[in-house]
Amino acid sequence: MADLSTQCCIAGGGPAGIMLGFLLARAGVDVIVLEKHDDFLRDFRGDTIHPSTLTILQDLGLLEEFLELPHDEVTELTGDVYGTVVTLADFTHVPAPRPFLVLVPQWDFLQFIARHAQRLPKFRLMMGTKADAVIEEGRAVVGVQASRGPESFRIRADLVVAADGRHTTIRESAGLQSVDIGAPIDVLWFRLPRDAQRHPSRTGGILRPGAMLVMLDRQSYWQCAFVIPKDSIEALRAEGLGRFRDRIGAIAPFLAPELQQLADWDAIKLLSVQITDLPCWHRPGLLCIGDAAHAMSPVGGVGINLAIQDAVAAANLLVAPLREQRLSEADLARVQQRRRWPARVTQRAQVAIQNEVLSPVLARQDAPAQPPAAVRLLQRFPRLRRLPARLVGIGVRPERVRVGPSPGS
Ligand SMILES: Cc1cc2nc3c(=O)[nH]c(=O)nc-3n(C[C@H](O)[C@H](O)[C@H](O)COP(=O)(O)OP(=O)(O)OC[C@H]3O[C@@H](n4cnc5c(N)ncnc54)[C@H](O)[C@@H]3O)c2cc1C
Repeated sequence: MADLSTQCCIAGGGPAGIMLGFLLARAGVDVIVLEKHDDFLRDFRGDTIHPSTLTILQDLGLLEEFLELPHDEVTELTGDVYGTVVTLADFTHVPAPRPFLVLVPQWDFLQFIARHAQRLPKFRLMMGTKADAVIEEGRAVVGVQASRGPESFRIRADLVVAADGRHTTIRESAGLQSVDIGAPIDVLWFRLPRDAQRHPSRTGGILRPGAMLVMLDRQSYWQCAFVIPKDSIEALRAEGLGRFRDRIGAIAPFLAPELQQLADWDAIKLLSVQITDLPCWHRPGLLCIGDAAHAMSPVGGVGINLAIQDAVAAANLLVAPLREQRLSEADLARVQQRRRWPARVTQRAQVAIQNEVLSPVLARQDAPAQPPAAVRLLQRFPRLRRLPARLVGIGVRPERVRVGPSPGS
């Protein structure tokens, strides 16, 4: 492969990288996005598109078309808290073009944005191409060393963006170190068939002493998340799959027939929960966004949506300096200034929920005499359910697309 050059080279075709590539190319900036996999079809990595992202899709004129993809709409989250069933979040009043969460496979979302981006003359997506390291000149990052199969080549760029997720290669190669905030839980993800005749439609969690199961209703199946204490997967495996099925059956007896189909550990994926903070997101010529800058806990299902908001903020702040070839490190610092704060506030809330709610639930031997005070309040005052919906669905400091399409795009 011959060496290439571009205005912006983005490492990683996840939600952050694909959205940023699309927004920059739409505004007339020349972009190359590198994605190491050959396609977007990978393991389950979260399916939740929140009202904040629906607002962004509306800004882009893509919302109606997006909603034509097969998807499910969630207007409320329920909780079965030690036998008391309560609505925990009510999305019907969130300030967004659609008052619901959308559940759509992440690969469908990525393919949808990539398809629109690929119509733009300034957008180039290189699948099956890995960003191996940054290229440096003095203190500045001036490009990326990349490889496709056995072939290695260089891409020179005014800006390199590390959007390569929480196991980032590019951020590491640039010497930017994140801080591990720690998490007391891991999550096991698996699917179970859903029988619409027998199973009520609901998306939410079931809490029992020592156990927590979250179920996302995907019509023909449940996407289930079983919360376990950190690093306890080996002990669970040692107990055997039969015991694991019994544990789930004890929390959700209505799933007993479906649980028999969980025939092997390969069908159960471990998410090793990580929360990280990156004190400095940039170097001259390099910016980190999305999980590469802040790995999020799955609490609230916000990771995809925060990654997209980073992309929108980065495009809003960087299109003009990139187009006018006057990009400085101060421009990159502005992106961090805008986005680190909402990521940290969200992470603090996730840490509080992990430590104050999830860990105590996992440690409990028996059910409390009555549901926790917060649950009783939500039961008694339905309007309060709008608050968690707003925090999850819109979050702190939501972004709007401020850069329009360039005349040629
Ligand atoms: C099992 C699981 C469940 C989750 N559930 C949810 C959920 O319900 N809701 C939610 O909002 N979030 C969820 N998340 C988190 C969410 O997936 C992430 O926060 C979000 O995808 C981050 O987006 P990103 O673009 O920053 O990184 P990623 O999505 O990790 O994308 C990074 C991309 O870069 C590619 N890449 C990596 N290294 C390189 C390289 N060197 N060169 C080229 N390409 C590279 C990867 O293949 C990947 O496509 C979940 C995550 C997991 C693992």
